[in-house]
Amino acid sequence: MKRSLNNRVIVIGAGLVGCGLAYHLSRLGRSVVVLEKRNAVSGATGRCGGMIMKIDGRDSDPAEIAKRWIYVAENDRMLDAFEAELGVDFGLWRRGSLDIATSDEEMDLLAQLVKMQREKLGDEEIQLLDASALRRLSPVISERCKGARYRPSDGCLDPFKLSHALLSKALEMGAEIRSWTPVEEILMRGGSVTGVRTSSGTVEGGTVVVAVNGWAADLLPQLPIVPLRALAVITEPAPPVPAFTFEAELHTKIVYGCTQTKRGNILVGGPPEQPASRDEQFNETVSLRELQFNTSVLTELLPGLGDLNIIRAWSGAMGMAPDGLPCVGKIDGCDGLYAAAGYPNGMSYTPVTARLLAELIVEGQSSIPLTTLDPNRFGSRTYDWPETYDYTVLAEYLDRSG
Ligand SMILES: Cc1cc2nc3c(=O)[nH]c(=O)nc-3n(C[C@H](O)[C@H](O)[C@H](O)COP(=O)(O)OP(=O)(O)OC[C@H]3O[C@@H](n4cnc5c(N)ncnc54)[C@H](O)[C@@H]3O)c2cc1C
Repeated sequence: MKRSLNNRVIVIGAGLVGCGLAYHLSRLGRSVVVLEKRNAVSGATGRCGGMIMKIDGRDSDPAEIAKRWIYVAENDRMLDAFEAELGVDFGLWRRGSLDIATSDEEMDLLAQLVKMQREKLGDEEIQLLDASALRRLSPVISERCKGARYRPSDGCLDPFKLSHALLSKALEMGAEIRSWTPVEEILMRGGSVTGVRTSSGTVEGGTVVVAVNGWAADLLPQLPIVPLRALAVITEPAPPVPAFTFEAELHTKIVYGCTQTKRGNILVGGPPEQPASRDEQFNETVSLRELQFNTSVLTELLPGLGDLNIIRAWSGAMGMAPDGLPCVGKIDGCDGLYAAAGYPNGMSYTPVTARLLAELIVEGQSSIPLTTLDPNRFGSRTYDWPETYDYTVLAEYLDRSG
C-alpha cells in the first residue's frame, strides 16, 4: 500500500544525525526520505575524530553539567547496545579520556572541577591524575604535562561505520536516500510544512527535519548556529600504545587527540592556524602551515610518537550554537518543521538526540524531555558574531556576551 506523502518525513542531511533519524523514524513506522547534498556521511561526521568525551570543556556550574548529563548518559547506554542491535562493529573503544593541564594554573582548575564533580554531582568515575600518575597511564605523553582530569569510560568510535550501519538498517526498513540532492528551500502553506524544493524538483512531505549541522543558517537563519572549521591528521598504523582521547591547550588554542584506532593509526586534530570568516569555515583543504601546526601537537604533547608518518590530513565544518549545545526539537510557529543541528560534540549527543527527536515526531513526546536543547531557546536574541573566528575566539566572545 502506498504511504501518504503527508505522512512522510523528509530528513535533510545524511550525517550521523540524519542517518540516526532515518533509523529511528523507520523503526517507529514512518516513511522517510533523506536528502543529502553530497554523499552520505561526507560532512562533519565523515571527517570527525570519533572521540567520545561525555563532558567536554571546563564548565564549572554543576547545574549546567547535570542538564547535559541526562543526554550523554543515555547516549552512552545506546552506544553499548548498538553493536548487538545493528550487528556491526563500529570501533567503540572505551580507553578513557584526558583533559590535560600544561600549566600549574590549569592543574589547580582541574583539581577544583574534579572536586566539584565528585561532591556536587556524585560523579565517582572522574579522577585527577598528577604528572606521575598520568605518565604511568600513558608514557608517551610529554613531561611538560602537569596532570589531567581522567574519565575511564570515554573513548572513541568510527563515526563513518556507525552512520552507515544506521542508514543501512533504515534502508532495509524502507527508507530512501537521495544523494547529490541539495535542499534549497523549505516549502510552507498556511503555517505548515508541505515539503522542500531541491536542485532537482520538489519533494512533498508533511514533516521536515533540518539535520545539516554547520549549514543550518542556509535553511533556518533564525537559529544562531555558526559553522566552525576543524582539522585532523592521521598517522600510519603503530603498535599498540596507551594513547587516549584528550583535550589540551597548546599555543593558546584548544587541541584534541583521539585514541589509537583499532588498526593502529593515531588521529590528532584541532583548530586551524588562523581565525577565518564564516564562509571560509567551509574550506575543506588543509594548508601546509596548518599541517605543520597540527603535527606539532603530536610532537609536543606526545613526543613518544613523534617519529610516526602522517598519512592524511583533512578538515570539515561542524555547527555551534551560543551555549555549545545542539538545537533539537520543533521550530516554533511552523507546523511540521523540526531542527537537529549545531553539534560540536556529536559522538556524545547525536545518537541519543536522533532517537528522542524521532519519538517526539511520531509519538508527540520524547522519553527524555528535549527542553534543554529546544531550538527556540535563544528567543529573538541576536548575536553580533566576530567577523573572523576559530573555536578559541568564539568561546571568548560568548563568555563576554554572556
Ligand atoms: C575535523 C573534525 C573533527 C571532529 N572531531 C570530533 C570528535 O572527535 N568527537 C566529536 O564528538 N565530534 C567531533 N566533531 C564534530 C562531529 O563531527 C559532529 O558533531 C557530528 O558529526 C555532527 O553530525 P551531523 O549529522 O549533525 O552533521 P554532518 O555530519 O555535518 O551532516 C550534515 C549533512 O548535511 C548535508 N547538507 C548540508 N546542507 C544541505 C542541504 N541544503 N541539503 C541537503 N544536505 C545538506 C551535508 O552535506 C552533511 O552531509 C568533529 C568535526 C570535525 C569537522
